[in-house]
Amino acid sequence: MIETSSFDWALIAAQSNASHRRYLLRVNQTHDRCRVLYDKASISQVRHHLANESLGEIELIEASAREFAEVQARLGLGVPAEALQAEALLEHAVAIGASDIHLDFQVNGLDVHYRIDGVLSSVATFSVDVGHRLIEQIKVQSRIDIAKVGVPQDGKLRLQLWGSYVEFRVSTLPAALGESAVIRVLDSAKVEPVLGHLFHGGVVTQFERCLQMTDGLIVVAGPTGAGKSTTLHAMLSELNNGERCLISIEDPIERVVAGVRQTEVTIDSQPLWLRSALRQDPDVIVVGEIRDQTTAELALRASRSGHLVLCTLHVGHYPQIFGRFAEWGISRSILEDVLRAVIVQRLLRRNCESCLGEGCPRCRQTGYFGRVGIAELDGGRDDNGSLRDHAMNLVALGLTRESEVQRVLGHAA
Ligand SMILES: [Zn+2]
Repeated sequence: MIETSSFDWALIAAQSNASHRRYLLRVNQTHDRCRVLYDKASISQVRHHLANESLGEIELIEASAREFAEVQARLGLGVPAEALQAEALLEHAVAIGASDIHLDFQVNGLDVHYRIDGVLSSVATFSVDVGHRLIEQIKVQSRIDIAKVGVPQDGKLRLQLWGSYVEFRVSTLPAALGESAVIRVLDSAKVEPVLGHLFHGGVVTQFERCLQMTDGLIVVAGPTGAGKSTTLHAMLSELNNGERCLISIEDPIERVVAGVRQTEVTIDSQPLWLRSALRQDPDVIVVGEIRDQTTAELALRASRSGHLVLCTLHVGHYPQIFGRFAEWGISRSILEDVLRAVIVQRLLRRNCESCLGEGCPRCRQTGYFGRVGIAELDGGRDDNGSLRDHAMNLVALGLTRESEVQRVLGHAA
């Protein structure tokens, strides 16, 4: 077995057809020595590939296809050769389960990071030339005007991968060393979220009880990446039994749900859409995130007039909810009148079930695979107590670790 720790690695594989060389690279840039593993490539091809890379002292190792695959798996995040093409990079990110792809120019090239289970990890550094080409390809494919330079732009593109469509939202930002791009992956083939899988224990029953309400407002709160919209989707599927008319206003539609009238809005059109949705005789309206006074007022009005309204709010803690609505001119007493439940939530990385957190190829040696939610209902007055109590219960059950709880919630006071 080839030892993988204490070295940086570059992996190079060439197909027999020299014109279609495959090139893999992963460099930690934490060691002076770099091991270069190659498969089906000649020494001159390898040297050619390495010519523009600053890798320090290099050790070349020729490997069999199997050894190559094994090292690649143990290193976890090898970016395939084809990733030098934008489409292949996107495909790789989806295969690995990334929710976002970050492309940033640094002094030595274009850094590629994936966000997986809420945490960024470095996957590759491409040379400056390759980096510029990749960014340009992505801009062209997502219909971003490449003639316009020096301004932030947005675009989207769609790829057919393994039989289903995956949509990518691209946003570019001019930066000192070159234009950076962040790509959000909207993978419709991802499993539909289920409350019972997202959360653990008594909190699921409490969620289900909330959903039996026929009117009023349910608020799901948390910071970015807390899984608020995933919870809304899980609630929506729970409600989707054909007995109630469901309308969901989304920005963007991440997953098409049969039986739900889903409509896509932008931040500006949200109030207009919400007003129209109310004329569609709905029982349940999923408003998505409330970001302005008009939407807040409309949501409140709807929840007072016989509709169950589900929304998310970008605040971290229970008391802040009242403050936010107060900024929109809605007093605590008016809000409390319609408020049926407040769910404040976070997502924690779940211990990998294959290796019990030891690290294995499935979890890319991180010890984590997937996520588990923690929630606090109505300011922690329920049986679960606070977010931290709920999290520590999950630690006791071996579902996650204390260090992960600290990463997400900070150290206990
Ligand atoms: Zn594992």
